[in-house]
Amino acid sequence: MKIHEYQAKELLREHGVPVPRGYPAFTVLEAVEAAQRLGVTSAAGLQAGGAPAGASPSAGTGPRPAVAVVKAQIHAGGRGKGGGVKLARSIDEVKTLAGQILGMQLVTHQTGPEGQKVRRLLIEEGADIKKEYYVAALTDRATQKVALMASSEGGMDIEEVAHKTPEKILKVFVDPLVGLSDAQALELAAGIGVPAASQPQAVDVLKKLYACYMATDASLAEINPLILEGNGAIKALDAKFNFDDNALFRHPEIVACRDLDEEDPAEIEASKFDLSYISLDGNIGCLVNGAGLAMATMDTIKLFGGEPANFLDVGGGATAEKVTEAFKIMLANKAVRGILVNIFGGIMKCDTIAEGVIAACKAVNLGVPLVVRMKGTNEDLGKQLLAASGLPIISADTMAEAAERIVAAVQ
Ligand code: ADP
Ligand code: MG
Repeated sequence: MKIHEYQAKELLREHGVPVPRGYPAFTVLEAVEAAQRLGVTSAAGLQAGGAPAGASPSAGTGPRPAVAVVKAQIHAGGRGKGGGVKLARSIDEVKTLAGQILGMQLVTHQTGPEGQKVRRLLIEEGADIKKEYYVAALTDRATQKVALMASSEGGMDIEEVAHKTPEKILKVFVDPLVGLSDAQALELAAGIGVPAASQPQAVDVLKKLYACYMATDASLAEINPLILEGNGAIKALDAKFNFDDNALFRHPEIVACRDLDEEDPAEIEASKFDLSYISLDGNIGCLVNGAGLAMATMDTIKLFGGEPANFLDVGGGATAEKVTEAFKIMLANKAVRGILVNIFGGIMKCDTIAEGVIAACKAVNLGVPLVVRMKGTNEDLGKQLLAASGLPIISADTMAEAAERIVAAVQ
């Protein structure tokens, strides 16, 4: 599960990581109120226009006016480059920018070409950025440990850094019994070039980031950028968390942050029926019992030149109702040109699945080819039911046969 930046910053704040003052806003009026709370004045500031954030708001001389940053809240990064992060120097500018950004279809390299609609904003105080770093805690599958990563090249181009100059990303692996040591945190802080005077604070932030990551069962906790301010202070200017779904039952406060507007409607619908469903880009819908068999089925489809439209595990106790819902969800995807049902009857009986498939075909008025392969308990009974149903179901005996037939049928 993912959360918004403002929610992630709240978590960091609770764990003692310094973040800018800021308030979420769902409407232009709330954005204006948030800016007033931050002390932004109504008089136009030094410069007009929503200059891209990132430039030091303290540039120039004289007393520093309160500056606000208007930030689109969507579950995708790259908002700055996509036009979703803007600097405002007056209440009027906050109002104008909030009006422009709220409701916009924000396209970033992480949203895909269709973009994501902005429904929430974060209005926060402008920071005096001297340097942008990158830091993150994540689960490293290769070492099976938590890794802390850091880079001197923080900000909006970290993907490019990782790609072109991976040596600029430092990593330490944490011994779970010891936690992130002072020495390791200092190795990172000094390694990315935090000035000596600010290193103790950077060490403190890294240790708190690790503590927050562990306490929340996160799989990723990323601060990009972590900044050095003009006065030497270290602050988290952006925050992104991913959480392990299997641990969410321990964190009702995180579940409360869930924003269904940011999730795939098909996946939400599937979760209501206890189906594990993930949308993919292909045109062959797959209905399988068991995650391992579902993965193997997708592999087999690809082996025969097809592309799965989804991953779908109906689980151990699939009823006719669940199978019908699964068909409805798959068919709601207009790209689907055919369906492959691949069932291993262990505890689940093949005749139960056959009944479910027949009921589903009738309920949804199936208009695309359907290949069914069933093995295991009550296999013969299941096959008889399918044959007797009069429905144009293509049956198959082996996985290879099933994949070959559905790939041929959709072409
Ligand atoms: P994203 O990673 O989605 O592009 P960020 O929150 O990292 O969004 O913002 C993009 C850039 O905007 C940052 O790298 C930083 O330069 C600038 N920025 C973000 N928040 C502030 C702020 N409060 N004050 C000044 N500049 C900011
Ligand atoms: Mg960022």
